[in-house]
Amino acid sequence: MKRIAIFPGSFDPFTVGHASIVERGLPMFDEIVIGVGLNENKRALYSPEERVRAISELYADDPRVRVVAYDDLTIDLAHRENASFILRGLRSVKDFEYERDIANMNFRLGNVETVMLFTEPHYSSISSSVVRELIAFGKDVTDFLPQRKPKP
Ligand code: ADP
Repeated sequence: MKRIAIFPGSFDPFTVGHASIVERGLPMFDEIVIGVGLNENKRALYSPEERVRAISELYADDPRVRVVAYDDLTIDLAHRENASFILRGLRSVKDFEYERDIANMNFRLGNVETVMLFTEPHYSSISSSVVRELIAFGKDVTDFLPQRKPKP
């Protein structure tokens, strides 16, 4: 059986921190499905279509990574994609309680296990919201956005 993980998030935009989680998750899974979630409570800079397109281009040469948009529960996306795992990144103690509650709920609802990776220290202060703010004020964010991945 294929070991499939979904990596859910808003990815508005997808940063080098997100790319690092995918990179480090790949040795653990046969396939990672990046799920671009539509969160009505968050004001978005990029449309879901733009986000899916940008992330898909990054991984165009890697058949182990797919990108989909979803607007229902993460656990429903996991089941649709036949995924037994949810991949998440943990930046700080601030993320911890929220992630624990969601992980417990997803295990209870759908028997899907969450795998958390600690953020690499040099990425721990990078968040989509900070990058969005820099973009809004016309700053160069090249260093925070990942470049297309070469063929594995
Ligand atoms: P969400 O709205 O679900 O938190 P995000 O797009 O902000 O969506 O994040 C998606 C996932 O990526 C989360 O698990 C988050 O903790 C993780 N993440 C965000 N920024 C970083 C980073 N700089 N390094 C590692 N993981 C990160």
